[in-house]
Amino acid sequence: MSEYFLPTLKEDPREAEIPSHKLMIRSGMIRKLASGVYEFLPLGWRTVRKIEEIIREELDAAGAQEIVMSAMQPRSLWEESGRWDLYGPELMRLKDRGGREFCLGPTHEEVVTKIVSENVRSYKQLPVTLYQFQMKFRDEIRPRFGVMRAREFYMKDSYSFDADLEGCRSSYDLHFKAYKRIFERCGLEFAVVEADTGNIGGEFSHEFMVLASTGEEEVAVCSCGYGASSSMAGFKGPEGEPGFPEEEEKPLQEVHTPGVTTVQEVSGFLSEKPRKFIKTLIFDSDKGPVAALVRGDHELCQDKLLSASGAKWLNLAEPETVKAVTGGPPGFSGPCGAKIPVFADEEVLAVQNAVSGAGKKDYHLININFPRDYTVSWKGRLRKLQQGDLCLKCGGELKIMRGIEVGHTFLLGTKYSSAMGARFVDKDGREKDMIMGCYGIGVTRVAAATIEQNHDSDGIIWPAAIAPFEISLIQLSGDTEDICRSLYEKLSEKYEVLWDDRDESPGVKFKDAQLLGLPVQIIVGKSYMKDGKLEVVCRRSGKKEYLSPEGIEEKISI
Ligand SMILES: [Zn+2]
Repeated sequence: MSEYFLPTLKEDPREAEIPSHKLMIRSGMIRKLASGVYEFLPLGWRTVRKIEEIIREELDAAGAQEIVMSAMQPRSLWEESGRWDLYGPELMRLKDRGGREFCLGPTHEEVVTKIVSENVRSYKQLPVTLYQFQMKFRDEIRPRFGVMRAREFYMKDSYSFDADLEGCRSSYDLHFKAYKRIFERCGLEFAVVEADTGNIGGEFSHEFMVLASTGEEEVAVCSCGYGASSSMAGFKGPEGEPGFPEEEEKPLQEVHTPGVTTVQEVSGFLSEKPRKFIKTLIFDSDKGPVAALVRGDHELCQDKLLSASGAKWLNLAEPETVKAVTGGPPGFSGPCGAKIPVFADEEVLAVQNAVSGAGKKDYHLININFPRDYTVSWKGRLRKLQQGDLCLKCGGELKIMRGIEVGHTFLLGTKYSSAMGARFVDKDGREKDMIMGCYGIGVTRVAAATIEQNHDSDGIIWPAAIAPFEISLIQLSGDTEDICRSLYEKLSEKYEVLWDDRDESPGVKFKDAQLLGLPVQIIVGKSYMKDGKLEVVCRRSGKKEYLSPEGIEEKISI
């Protein structure tokens, strides 16, 4: 360590909000160059290289072949796929001296499709799966969380090309299984969830999520193996599928509710449970105003309303709009007599003798029943998943967890091959579009996500497989240099050892060892001076053992 470039910090950097960002800077893994742009120092890069090697081994074993593509990609190529305009301001664009436009690749579908379409003519040359490790660029509007949401990041991206859908499914499956092994080998706790295809596009996709309380995304997972992002998860309420009348329908009635607007307030005022309420939310959209109905004890999922309504955007309507379309101010809207399209969560329709706004100030309606008192233009799932909801596959309770996306697999189909003319001649002599899949792992993000999942108040706790080194050899006094050197040499035959031979106090050395979080610490200190024993500490469990130096390399396990 006296020679190693490893600048550690005692204090958390001010701009860092989450543990991995703080700890990667403090442990000397990374440094910031500009907003969302980081350098990896030797310690950090060792971990990245280890993750990279695990990925490479598994993908090679699955039959994928490594290449390197250019980060600079000409505009013309992105115009062929239609993404030059579609990608928007997140695409890093630049011009060369001749005024020709380029982008710095955020992904490589266009480039790889060009390579394959120019060099593959026949079904006999398929399937082909290519992958690369490379810096990717994305001009994030708000880069944050260190390398977790950076503008430049190290990624592994793979692309498969098949002659038919069946072949593509099996290429997809090979990657899917390889990804599971990769994250298992990294020592991570993760979930695989069905996900949205976003601006990559395609038929279906899965996300690999490292589970951590600081994760940005909410996922639903079930013990039966089902998993989905929480906005896409299929589920049923705790009482099962919504049923219809058990209560007797009472006559619709208007009640005076001065100054009470929220479900909670009205529920207190009328002594009715929130689940008897129809929450009516008015939105503005590119298609004009719409109303969304969810039960009083549920939350609206805006993504679901967006896809149900087919609108491009939605915003909660301003009070003037609410007044114009419902007749009353916000807080008194209801479904009865609505003059705009009404989108209803299916569980709303099952509520009998329901309560909602009357469409005028200070009045609510009670005993609202569907379809007697209102109509809807659409019914289905609009509400958010919540704790207690059940899995559609097995009926078990879904667990809502937070996760960090580290891998994503897409079955693309012919989106890029048909746009860019990636065609081949099939067995039957006909020309067809190749069927594509694409698969990504954010390598630097895996490092950060690992720390989110594996740390304590003292520092990082690395899983052994991707720890930058395996052993901290801590030398506490100058007198023990010889024994430390011989231990270092002996242990290095079997393990990766970081020898703290710096002229620093024991306190500084212990703190740094905890911060760096290597799996095993071997301390040459008091107990060695006293009775010739080394203190061997497991970073994760804190368990201590006293062992003699002879044959130490055989006695420890990592
Ligand atoms: Zn289940």
